[in-house]
Amino acid sequence: MHIALIAHDRMKDEMVALAGEFAATLRQHRLMATGTTGGRLQRELGLDVECMLSGPLGGDLQIGARLATGGVQAVVFLRDPMTPQPHEPDINALVRACDVHNVPCATNPAGARILLQYLGG
Ligand code: PGA
Repeated sequence: MHIALIAHDRMKDEMVALAGEFAATLRQHRLMATGTTGGRLQRELGLDVECMLSGPLGGDLQIGARLATGGVQAVVFLRDPMTPQPHEPDINALVRACDVHNVPCATNPAGARILLQYLGG
């Protein structure tokens, strides 16, 4: 499966911790991520990640476009609910694309844990 991983700035430490916890599962799949998130996952965990543009520069849209054409089967998108994001329309577009195409999308760590457990099982 192709899995997309995205984390807003204040959620990136949490993403690295989560991906570390589920590294064995993630290594069984093809990973893609927005630029900064993906860079951290590569550097800090040695995961093989296809990096898109950074989110504010269009990375969420790139993942959304891939998803709309069948190239993404699960999304972990750790959004920061407390900070306004300049690319809010792009974030909404990606989450909407998940709903349109019925692709599971976890937007907080608790949901991500359930999704990653399922993918590992
Ligand atoms: P980033 O993008 O991983 O490049 O920071 C995430 C986002 O803000 O959507």
